[in-house]
Amino acid sequence: HKSKLIAGNWKMNASLASNETLLKAVLEGLGASVCDVAVCVPGPYLAQVGGIVSGSAIALGAQDVSAHPSGAYTGEQSAAMLQEFGVRYAIVGHSERRQYHGERDEVVSAKTAMALRHGITPIVCVGETLAEREAGQTEEVVKRQLAAVIHDNGHCISEIVVAYEPVWAIGTGKTATPEQAQAVHHLLRAQLHHAAGDHAAGIRILYGGSMNAANAPQLLAQPDIDGGLIGGASLKSADFLQIIAAAN
Ligand code: 13P
Repeated sequence: HKSKLIAGNWKMNASLASNETLLKAVLEGLGASVCDVAVCVPGPYLAQVGGIVSGSAIALGAQDVSAHPSGAYTGEQSAAMLQEFGVRYAIVGHSERRQYHGERDEVVSAKTAMALRHGITPIVCVGETLAEREAGQTEEVVKRQLAAVIHDNGHCISEIVVAYEPVWAIGTGKTATPEQAQAVHHLLRAQLHHAAGDHAAGIRILYGGSMNAANAPQLLAQPDIDGGLIGGASLKSADFLQIIAAAN
């Protein structure tokens, strides 16, 4: 039986001092957690955080990975570089990358392939905007986003993690209801089943978007919600620990 995954996405929030304080508190409070835990940190802090979490139950994650192996791609970080720093997870296709950096489905798919090739588990983000939800396009949008990744990575699709992050719920305090989230997770599961057969049951589908200590228990109780991708609440040790406890 698969364990749940609680992954923090620190986004562009970190400093040497605050990372140390936060991780020390999380490590102390972690106890014997049975779910998997990861923190996806900004690139400059991979070495620091990797050192702090080394040998612990917290896995190191990145927030993005280049679609290219190496070369003239200023500002990008390759999967091979991340691998050298012990990175186990990489978020790909986060809505903030899609929105502010114009990442299209094909790029997200290429990034997924690159992570997989280097033994890094991609956390593939999908999700609709408010306008798309209101236009009744939620299903079409998330299926299109996942289909692109399945199309190019079908042979190892059971190695990915999917994160459903409705864009209207990110950083807004407006969480999807457990029923709204479960409905989308269920159709993503069906799509994965079509591609991977029985392996689909073992693919973790995380929910992300204003998940916090208060709403995590209900969300994580849904049959197709296998964990969370946590933004704001992952920066506060008490909140992050309570979400982890809800996943245990
Ligand atoms: P918040 O938890 O801050 O809404 O962010 C969610 C998110 O985007 C995680 O990747």
